[in-house]
Amino acid sequence: MIEENEMDFENRIVSPEYNYRDEETELSLRPKTLDDYIGQEKAKDNLRIYIKAALQRHESLDHVLLYGPPGLGKTTLSGIIAHEMGVNLRVTSGPAIEKQGDLVAILTSLNEGDVLFIDEIHRLSRNIEEILYPAMEDFSLDIILGKGPSARSIRLDVPHFTLVGATTRSGQLTAPLRDRFGVLLRLELYSPEELGRIIMRSAGILQIEIDEEGALEIASRSRGTPRIANRLLKRVRDIAQVEFDGVITLEVAQKALARFEIDELGLDDFDRRMLTTIIQTYNGGPVGLETLAAAVGEEAVTIEDVYEPYLMQIGFLARTPRGRCVTHLAYEHLGLSNNPTQPTLFD
Ligand code: ADP
Repeated sequence: MIEENEMDFENRIVSPEYNYRDEETELSLRPKTLDDYIGQEKAKDNLRIYIKAALQRHESLDHVLLYGPPGLGKTTLSGIIAHEMGVNLRVTSGPAIEKQGDLVAILTSLNEGDVLFIDEIHRLSRNIEEILYPAMEDFSLDIILGKGPSARSIRLDVPHFTLVGATTRSGQLTAPLRDRFGVLLRLELYSPEELGRIIMRSAGILQIEIDEEGALEIASRSRGTPRIANRLLKRVRDIAQVEFDGVITLEVAQKALARFEIDELGLDDFDRRMLTTIIQTYNGGPVGLETLAAAVGEEAVTIEDVYEPYLMQIGFLARTPRGRCVTHLAYEHLGLSNNPTQPTLFD
């Protein structure tokens, strides 16, 4: 059990979180324009209008908050916004800004209209948020010089910039920060068809030979997440190259993914273990998040942000006020029988 709990999450192939192995291709695979960005039609339609309006008025774009699970294209979208607005992009993250001075240095070095992308913006500390409020609202900074009775405050102007904040959950943001964003866009998990198009596009850039059925097979096991789709594409290519004739067909994709122990819905060993734990130890639920986290040896936030969105999307798991419940679809998928004595919440 202990060994299982110590599973190497860094190396989990279907983790939507960035891992260093993605580095070599992630940059080249990032679409640069809204037209190249596949899916997220609602967010794209909104952005198109706001960008056009801002360009017509020769103003900077209003601050944008992007929220949704990791790997769905938030960083990519911030680059696209900068590209479409014809300005520079500056990338940083909540945990990277440690001192007020760090943020002051970034803000004062921006050019007029630039996009500042802050990933994991919910992790900014409160005293840094306080610097950000006047900067977002009036494009000014209040800086205190000196200490004690001789301290004085000076006001400094900063260029008009667009803050693009990204977070896995908008609920984690403090209300004053959230209120200062003019545009709030929620990114959704992608459909297999959309992921299939993303895979075909990536295969073209990476010069990987793949047919549409092969792409759709990888897509349907990618948990609605482009980052996972691109990663699986590269791993399947290796197998196609070494064990087959290099072309990814349906059969090649199926054989390769079976070897990675990713089932036809994209579930891996951890998902199956978590669902089985809820079924066998907690009679299908409800079980509280913290209890579940302890039982499977994973942090509660990771379960909430990384594993649950997809399991809920495919209808295997439900969040209820009393805790997590597994649905009959999950029982069927795992080949476990549904306990008839269990409250029939989802039957
Ligand atoms: P996030 O910031 O939400 O974690 P990223 O923007 O880093 O996600 O996206 C991860 C990878 O997925 C990028 O390399 C990009 O190539 C790909 N990607 C994301 N969204 C799309 C999309 N809509 N179309 C094509 N590729 C995408």
